[in-house]
Amino acid sequence: MKFATACIHVGQDPDPITGATIPPVHFTTTYTLDAPGEGKGFVYSRSANPTRIALEACLTTLENASAASSFSSGCAATMAVLSTLRPGDSIVAYADLYGGTYRIFENISRPNGINTKYAQGTGVADFEQLIDSTTKLIWLETPTNPLLRLIDIEAVSQLAKSRGIAVAVDNTFATPALQQPLSLGADYIVHSTTKYIAGHSDVIGGAVVVKDASLIEPILFYLKSAGGCPGPMDCYMTQRGIKTLPLRMRAHCANARAIAEYLSGRKGIASVLYPTLPDHPDRALAEKQMCGGGGIVSLLLDGGFDATSRFCKSTKLFSLAESLGGVESLINHPARMTHASIPKNVRDAQGITDNLVRLSVGIEDVDDLKEDLDKALAAI
Ligand SMILES: *Cc1c(COP(=O)(O)O)cnc(C)c1O
Repeated sequence: MKFATACIHVGQDPDPITGATIPPVHFTTTYTLDAPGEGKGFVYSRSANPTRIALEACLTTLENASAASSFSSGCAATMAVLSTLRPGDSIVAYADLYGGTYRIFENISRPNGINTKYAQGTGVADFEQLIDSTTKLIWLETPTNPLLRLIDIEAVSQLAKSRGIAVAVDNTFATPALQQPLSLGADYIVHSTTKYIAGHSDVIGGAVVVKDASLIEPILFYLKSAGGCPGPMDCYMTQRGIKTLPLRMRAHCANARAIAEYLSGRKGIASVLYPTLPDHPDRALAEKQMCGGGGIVSLLLDGGFDATSRFCKSTKLFSLAESLGGVESLINHPARMTHASIPKNVRDAQGITDNLVRLSVGIEDVDDLKEDLDKALAAI
């Protein structure tokens, strides 16, 4: 079955009892058994719920995986993967990381005896030099946020495999529509389904997807034991979003690319970061590893903090908001918003300077989006 078909049909068989074409949402915490210990495979909804199972089946197919487990948020999914580590184990990650993941690594894992070392470059050698006998996990986010650098999943996975280290890829930005990390050698995929997968900025969720079926057991054990399970309505809404994932990602990519080209070289813009632009440092890798540059465009404005702040509050269609991946366009000033918790000197060293703007380009008519950005540029 092809990708777009799987998005609509996997986990979505008509209800065998009523024939309802759209399967019912199973609002139940518990399940009536035939006899003690004998039921239909469900006991209590923290462990499993049919609406959740349907979503997990769909995610498994979309990521070319053998199993998936869904969570109440992307951060809960991250915690589940980290639960496989023990005190004394360590992680290697790239420095330009989702802020919430960095907070987990530094403020939850580190005090519990699991240290993270951060690669300062995107090359395989940058990761390799940080590996030691305690390294048990390499954590990749690609494209990175907010600078949109790419990391070669296949090359890093080969290195990791030769050292007996697991690789987890946060595939939130690309989604399986644009990038399939398990097929490139990764072991775990983590998603914030909150973003493109659900796609409408109205439900928080997460997932862990694995290549080797044996890896799902500890994840399911963690879910059952620690909680963090999504409710049935959240699973339903996420699944409903997935049905249009291929269409939406195509539209996000087309609009983002058009905006990136439109703004490149424009007065007031120092540079535009987008993976498939001719001058992007990782363009060749983008063409090899992804099928589309995604919906995020980052900009460096001419001017400092105040001018950038004025630009961000002057758009009308681009809402000034954190998060990304919904059908509506958002604008974010990382220095003041998503990345404000990183000290300024660290931020500057990483390239997250005061004049950086991140756009989550939605699927509105691109002419309206261009006009909106033009007016904001004029307002600086
Ligand atoms: C939002 C996000 C997360 C965290 O997901 P939540 O659903 O907000 O908990 C993790 N990784 C990336 C790349 C994200 O954008």
